[in-house]
Amino acid sequence: MTIYFDNAATTSVSKTALDAMIPALTENYGNPSSLHALGQTSNQALDEARRTVAECLGAQPNEIYFTSGGSEADNWAITQLAEQGKKKGKNHLITTTFEHHAVLHTVKRLEKNGFEVTYLDVHEDGIVRPEELAAAIRPETALVTIMYANNEIGTIQPIEELAKVCHEKGVLFHTDAVQAVGHLPINVKEQGIDLLSLSGHKFHGPKGVGALYCRRGVRLTNFIEGGAQERNRRAGTENLPGICGMAAALKEAVDHLEENTRKVTAMRDKLIEGIRTIPCSRINGSLEHRLPGNVNACFEGIEGESLLLRLDLMGICASSGSACTSGSLDPSHVLLAIGLPKEIAHGSLRLSLDEVNTMEEVDYTLEQLPKILETLRDMSPVWEQMKKEGRC
Ligand SMILES: *Cc1c(COP(=O)(O)O)cnc(C)c1O
Repeated sequence: MTIYFDNAATTSVSKTALDAMIPALTENYGNPSSLHALGQTSNQALDEARRTVAECLGAQPNEIYFTSGGSEADNWAITQLAEQGKKKGKNHLITTTFEHHAVLHTVKRLEKNGFEVTYLDVHEDGIVRPEELAAAIRPETALVTIMYANNEIGTIQPIEELAKVCHEKGVLFHTDAVQAVGHLPINVKEQGIDLLSLSGHKFHGPKGVGALYCRRGVRLTNFIEGGAQERNRRAGTENLPGICGMAAALKEAVDHLEENTRKVTAMRDKLIEGIRTIPCSRINGSLEHRLPGNVNACFEGIEGESLLLRLDLMGICASSGSACTSGSLDPSHVLLAIGLPKEIAHGSLRLSLDEVNTMEEVDYTLEQLPKILETLRDMSPVWEQMKKEGRC
């Protein structure tokens, strides 16, 4: 038995997405830029996928640029708008302390190259305060980039308010919405989002494909030089199978958003309730403003890594936080950002669920988890010490 509770790292490709990819991998192999009939068939498929993605976001097709994934979309939006700002004497950026590394490392590189960066606090609940954003904006602020929902603790930001603050001060607002798209209702126009990054493999599309939404009127400079693809902004023959798969997966997710949310939220809440009965445990991040499928907990006296290995032995695929930082021994920057001490942040567990999971899987996990924790704590000198001191 395999229980897959690592949907924030990546998801399985849905049947709908796969079916949409097959023609582009087989008979419709033409290059969308070719003038012959086969090329034009591909070009039509590309147009249709772009229309679908645009509709799902409340955007126009000519505001969608396909990329190789969420990381590229983040890099593109941030570096290009920062560079444009610099030309106008704007050398200040605003982000938060708990962004995905695709944003944080991009911003860090710009910081090395002369930009000043303000990292907004996300508080204990994992939520940015709009008034603190307002106070941080300066006349020389080129861009604000704040993630829609966090990939480790699942907390959802007040996006409309943040965008409004930016617009009142004439600053552009980008959001890494990779965890939100396909999981939360999004309308870029109503929410006032200028730029948004998304990635196909976080909502049952294929890996290696994503998109950047850029509002009309915002100048987006080229990211990859070469051919005229993506309206001259991003060269390279389009990943048509990936793009078609992603568009189909997104439409499916958006069409079923309400029922999926209901189902996933019920499973999440049951897990959270069960975990809360385990001694010396805590749930990280706001319970109220949280992705339907995110559970993130810390258990004192244990190492997250050993917990993951034991869960894996019982057939449960989980994560200690971000897939990108696993393998390193540093505690999660997200958990440190919400103020957890290092020793507690080490004992973290992320279970990320979605609509392909079942309540039986939740029940099984709630049976196994306390047993595993007990075994691990019995072997832990730290736990022994905590008990002696009466801390647990
Ligand atoms: C997964 C993820 C990314 C990276 O997307 P890729 O398509 O894997 O490059 C960026 N930001 C967040 C919040 C993510 O969860």
